[in-house]
Amino acid sequence: MATTPDTTTRELVIIGSGPAAWTAAIYAGRANLRPLLFEGEPVGTDLPGGQLMLTTDIENFPGFPEPISGQALMERMKEQALRYGVEVVSELVRDVDLSGHPFRIVPNYSEPVLAHTVIVATGAKAKWIGLPNELRLAQLGGGVSACAVCDGALPHFRNKVLAVVGGGDTAMEEAMYLTKFASEVIVIHRRDAFRASKAMASRVLAHPKIRVLWNTQVADVLGDAEIAGLRLRDTVTGAERDMAVGGLFVAIGHEPNTGFLKGQLQTTPHGYIVTTPGRTATTCPGVFAAGDVIDDYYRQAITSAGTGCMAALEAERYLAHHGIGESPVLETAETVVCAADDAPAIGVSEINASLAATHGARGAETPA
Ligand code: NAP
Repeated sequence: MATTPDTTTRELVIIGSGPAAWTAAIYAGRANLRPLLFEGEPVGTDLPGGQLMLTTDIENFPGFPEPISGQALMERMKEQALRYGVEVVSELVRDVDLSGHPFRIVPNYSEPVLAHTVIVATGAKAKWIGLPNELRLAQLGGGVSACAVCDGALPHFRNKVLAVVGGGDTAMEEAMYLTKFASEVIVIHRRDAFRASKAMASRVLAHPKIRVLWNTQVADVLGDAEIAGLRLRDTVTGAERDMAVGGLFVAIGHEPNTGFLKGQLQTTPHGYIVTTPGRTATTCPGVFAAGDVIDDYYRQAITSAGTGCMAALEAERYLAHHGIGESPVLETAETVVCAADDAPAIGVSEINASLAATHGARGAETPA
């Protein structure tokens, strides 16, 4: 028995606007899924486009033999997605309801949207110390960065004294990486012991190019168009002094952007969304996650783009299994139905009933 299609329920809503989100949008748009994408809105240093909006030249994104700025790369990804019919809303999503099907997405200003599948690609934020000149120079490309792997090899940082702030594994990794380019790397840590694993800390402490300043805080970043130095404060005595540096890498952790999910998807102890190993399926069937919001290990534009592609293909195949869209139902594309211990599990019959109501009887068929 056919029912009238409900055009108000979207096949796919994508939340985010970094490489994962735009890649998912390109794939889903080309698959005729009419994706609706919430790209967010500017809030402080958070801009639609994500962390790459704070990066200067990108030299390691394949296909760009000449360096491309982070902003230009994000604009090109968006332009490519728009070619395939992606509808973009420039608002943040403030709430979602993933407890029933279809899912409900609540943006900041416009009406809530219903969706059969959702891709969460909201990324993660690098934590900053919070000094005005630190953030200004990071935005300007003036020698302040939160990613050594992204920026360390740029000509700007070569053969200079580079400072790394932090005492965790990320700071150790960034310091080691920067030894390839810097004349000297100075690790600045606010305590007298590292939080990092012994193995990584030992490597840093033994490296001839690395010096550690213990019990030291960055009180200010000096320089107008480019960083010139740091004002350092001794955390024990309170004494201040200035030190010349050619670059600052802030490595004090990351925070995934998952607050709006309000615990509806299972996350790791550090707040990253848990997905089925090797896939982007979350603990809620029909909800997929991609990019830095699932990744505290690689954190690269190219790996984000890769998982964005995976999420779109998984969403497409999930819909195909429920009778929507043009994708063939593949043997290998079984929907993984799992649920967080404390999350309400959505049954396949509930999903099919909802899909049947909006797309007719085909939606009620159980996947082969
Ligand atoms: P983290 O372990 O939370 O360490 C953050 C560091 O930054 C701490 O040393 C902290 O100081 C310092 N810090 C925090 N806020 C600060 C501030 N406002 N001013 C100055 N210093 C500040 O973060 P992470 O290093 O990014 O690591 C996150 C997780 O990823 C960890 O589980 C880590 O093991 C893992 N990780 C693993 C690898 C690897 O295995 N290859 C690489 C990177 C990260 P205190 O110590 O005083 O709190």
